[in-house]
Amino acid sequence: CGIVGYVGGQSALDVVLAGLKRLEYRGYDSAGVAVLADGGLAAAKKAGKLANLEKELADRPLPTGSTGIGHTRWATHGGPTDANAHPHLDNAGRVSVVHNGIIENFAALRAELAERGHDLASETDTEVVAHLLAESFSSCGDLAEAMRQVCRRLEGAFTLVAVHADAPDVVVGARRNSPLVVGVGEDEAFLASDVAAFIAHTREAIELGQDQVVEARREGVVVTDFEGAPAEVRPYHVDWDA
Ligand code: GLU
Repeated sequence: CGIVGYVGGQSALDVVLAGLKRLEYRGYDSAGVAVLADGGLAAAKKAGKLANLEKELADRPLPTGSTGIGHTRWATHGGPTDANAHPHLDNAGRVSVVHNGIIENFAALRAELAERGHDLASETDTEVVAHLLAESFSSCGDLAEAMRQVCRRLEGAFTLVAVHADAPDVVVGARRNSPLVVGVGEDEAFLASDVAAFIAHTREAIELGQDQVVEARREGVVVTDFEGAPAEVRPYHVDWDA
């Protein structure tokens, strides 16, 4: 339902949680975050309000890192449980993804992944994306390219944002039939389902077009289509008060 991603000089967890609070008005049933820190990936997710997630983070703090993602979920596939909350991880716990929308062909992809030995830990349509990204990344070594390869296999509506512990300075996003905006700050970048998540930090935004992938780093962002061809970006200034 709500998505925030961050890479920059601030604590990713603080930026992501503040962003998720700005998106709370949309309604949700669970929330979660993942940050890259110390060469690894750490995640926390809880059914219920953001306050539940904050309590979990107070009890079991995550390490501090400067790259992270977060999600507020409105369940469509699988009940509103801790296990079904996003982010979803691959079996090695190296890649993490959040998703808005519905992956229509998830059942076939789940069956295919199970056959290749993946253990699926949730009942969501989303989790297949984490496993597919892990496979693609291990063969191509590039998270944006892995996202393009995976998106070409997905049907339905999706905003996806992902991080990988082996690509610690990158957040990637993709969209089809569901919105994704990029905030371009000074030495930092934001990905979100809604500009409200980042206008406290930057008002320079790019709206991702249909079937596009964005690779965000502190130095800037690169946008392509699902085939990898450079895409025309439409930068704009957000001048309303949220
Ligand atoms: N279909 C996904 C799920 O049920 C994403 C729902 C959402 O957009 O929050 O987990």
